[in-house]
Amino acid sequence: MNEAIASTPLEVATQTLQRSAWADPHRINADLHCHSVVSDGTLTPEELAARAAANGVQLWSLTDHDEVGGLARAKAAAQAHGLVFIPGVEVSVTWAGETLHIVGLNVEFEGSALEHGLTSVRDGRTERAREMSRLLAKVGIEGAYEGALKYVGNPALISRTHFARHLVETGVCTEVREVFERFLTPGKPGYVPHEWATLSDAVRWILESNGQAVIAHPGRYRLSPLQMDVLIEQFIGLGGTGIEVVTGSHTVDEYKYFAAKSVRCGLKASRGSDFHGPTESRVNLGELPPLPDGCVPIWDNWAHLVS
Ligand code: AMP
Ligand code: MN
Ligand code: MN
Ligand code: MN
Repeated sequence: MNEAIASTPLEVATQTLQRSAWADPHRINADLHCHSVVSDGTLTPEELAARAAANGVQLWSLTDHDEVGGLARAKAAAQAHGLVFIPGVEVSVTWAGETLHIVGLNVEFEGSALEHGLTSVRDGRTERAREMSRLLAKVGIEGAYEGALKYVGNPALISRTHFARHLVETGVCTEVREVFERFLTPGKPGYVPHEWATLSDAVRWILESNGQAVIAHPGRYRLSPLQMDVLIEQFIGLGGTGIEVVTGSHTVDEYKYFAAKSVRCGLKASRGSDFHGPTESRVNLGELPPLPDGCVPIWDNWAHLVS
């Protein structure tokens, strides 16, 4: 995984994006996946916008889990920094018994089908968190729910990440990754299975909100190559158009693998760090290699977003 960090970031001048940049869209520094305190990130939307601008990001999207509540703040902050802002979201989906994430880009977020649909996805997170806490108590970790709540920026959005931060802070583990490995993943003592949105609902909410749907970090799922192909076929059938190729979750080999797959399947390629915070993320905002040659950036027809 560490090769991903060692790769040379895209070198682009830190300047306001011009339409002329679309003559070579691969050179645009797009970071279309990250999280704020409105879900499980550690920075505010304003801090993220400042960091994105400082790191040379030109097209920036905030994609909080199951929540669009940070987008208005992010948009205002992005505009103040001269960044082109893409309103985004990362929807939790259950498909074939596996949790998948579907990113929506360019979504309308106020009063939209997406905003309404996400309410139902967030419902159930609190009860799931209480159950996680009950299970953790059985292995001797008391008060995890109350502990996790201290890290929550949005009461509707308590996630496993908040539990992980609490267990690191209290010395049960030394880092967030270790908490997931020991306690919070399938088969481990604090894991609670959960039914998220269906793939078809998630894609429909995004499309009805005039956005584009993108399969997030496909390299992370426990799917066979055949299942991945079935997923992609269904996703395209529902109207999905993109797949993440260069993400903080992929190795350099996975960049190449999913670039080739995007070309073969006719999906556009996306690029995003999945940044959650300065001390937890392997890849910094905007500091990713460019998309491999041959794939079509999902932003290739977004020139109209700049004047
Ligand atoms: P939840 O939506 O509550 O299931 O939490 C999912 C979040 O947990 C993901 O978006 C990641 O931020 C984080 N996460 C999942 N797996 C891991 C892992 N193995 N190591 C670190 N963070 C993880
Ligand atoms: Mn997360
Ligand atoms: Mn994700
Ligand atoms: Mn994410």
